[in-house]
Amino acid sequence: MLPGSSTLLIRNATILATMDVDDREIRGGGMFIRDGQIEQVDVTERLPTSADKIVDLSDHLVMPGLVNGHHHLYQTLDRACPASQNAALVDWLAGLYPRWIRLTPDDVALATEIGLVELALSGCTTAADHHYIWPTGVTADLQFEVARRVGLRFHLGRGFQNMGQGNGGFAPSALLEKGADALADCVRLIEKFHDPSPGSMQQVYVAPGSIRSVSPDLLKESVETARSYGVHFHMHLGETKGEIDYTIEKFGKRPVEVADALGCLHSQSWIAHGVHFNDGDVEILVRRRCGICHCPSSNMRLASGTAAIQHYIKQGVNVGLGVDGSASNDSSNLLSEIRIALLLSRVNVPADQPLLDPRTILKAGTLGGAKLLGRTDIGRLQSGYCADFIAFRLDRIELLGTDDPLAAIALCALTRVDQSWVHGRQIIKSGKLLGADDHALAQRYAGRKPIG
Ligand SMILES: [Zn+2]
Repeated sequence: MLPGSSTLLIRNATILATMDVDDREIRGGGMFIRDGQIEQVDVTERLPTSADKIVDLSDHLVMPGLVNGHHHLYQTLDRACPASQNAALVDWLAGLYPRWIRLTPDDVALATEIGLVELALSGCTTAADHHYIWPTGVTADLQFEVARRVGLRFHLGRGFQNMGQGNGGFAPSALLEKGADALADCVRLIEKFHDPSPGSMQQVYVAPGSIRSVSPDLLKESVETARSYGVHFHMHLGETKGEIDYTIEKFGKRPVEVADALGCLHSQSWIAHGVHFNDGDVEILVRRRCGICHCPSSNMRLASGTAAIQHYIKQGVNVGLGVDGSASNDSSNLLSEIRIALLLSRVNVPADQPLLDPRTILKAGTLGGAKLLGRTDIGRLQSGYCADFIAFRLDRIELLGTDDPLAAIALCALTRVDQSWVHGRQIIKSGKLLGADDHALAQRYAGRKPIG
């Protein structure tokens, strides 16, 4: 053993789904892990027999941790908000902005922690957030601190808007930023928090709101900023039909064509939603190798439509999954999102088309998400990858009655994992999060000053 290194041996998993290049599903599988990195994946008998820590996962299914590709954690205090319960995107925003303008740093810290805890309990090991609301005193710095405490890998999208009510967008002027200020803070956060090294626990990406909330000049500049610092780029695109009407009227082009002309779509960028894409749009995304984060609950909740992810995947687009903000999902449960994505993909499928299968959607929720974020060190259980993995007890009531437990993770109505490790460190044990206290969080919520 190397001096100072620490080793972890996982043994006897009933099934260990690797999602590696051969999609191995190993019966009686295990892993030998050193300093958070997987050294060996094999049947238990072929693994070393000793380690600093040995965990027997008999009667468990083990798979890579889930990766959430799109969220707005600050919205977690706006679940089931009465003003926006029955509204599509534009009216939904109108109901929420009066609350968002009053958010305090404490509100954002609490919302971030509640959201990350729920994500972690649902099997997420890496979370990307898209934060574009900056009321007085709110900075992204506090979110990194919360993510560290919960134990998740965290990618922060520094978002911004410079168009609002009166010039095409929807935000009140107090929540708009000058482009130069927004990009200067992107650079500050990149220099302070972005760690591009393998195994990185925190990264930063540049994330303008959308074509309707950010001017073309600023979109272009933000692409250049992301490129010059070697970080990823992300934005909302193709979420509503209204966006198509807007860009056709203003630019004479579809949203994807506008975004492409500004340089927003490339191999180090991904977009959220992609509900309203035609064949020409998909062809552009394939050519640019730009991925899509599918957020099915949010799209249904806001009556935005149905993204044809089966078609996108077939055309060669990398698709990952995201919960989107809790104001448009009312939860941050990524396991639920996997099942909903699978079921929604089967609505309105022509009779002569094959159906999306459970293993494909599980891969979108793991490896697909990792690829969106540009990570080549997570999303698979294989030698050289980070030890980010989750485990489900197979004697849970929801999983009784299946001979295919892996498919059952996507098809059955599961909402929580039993065990979870990030970089070889256990963050959930027997269904309990080790880095945060649910009860204390509930007390903090109960004791907060109501927004506004
Ligand atoms: Zn969103």
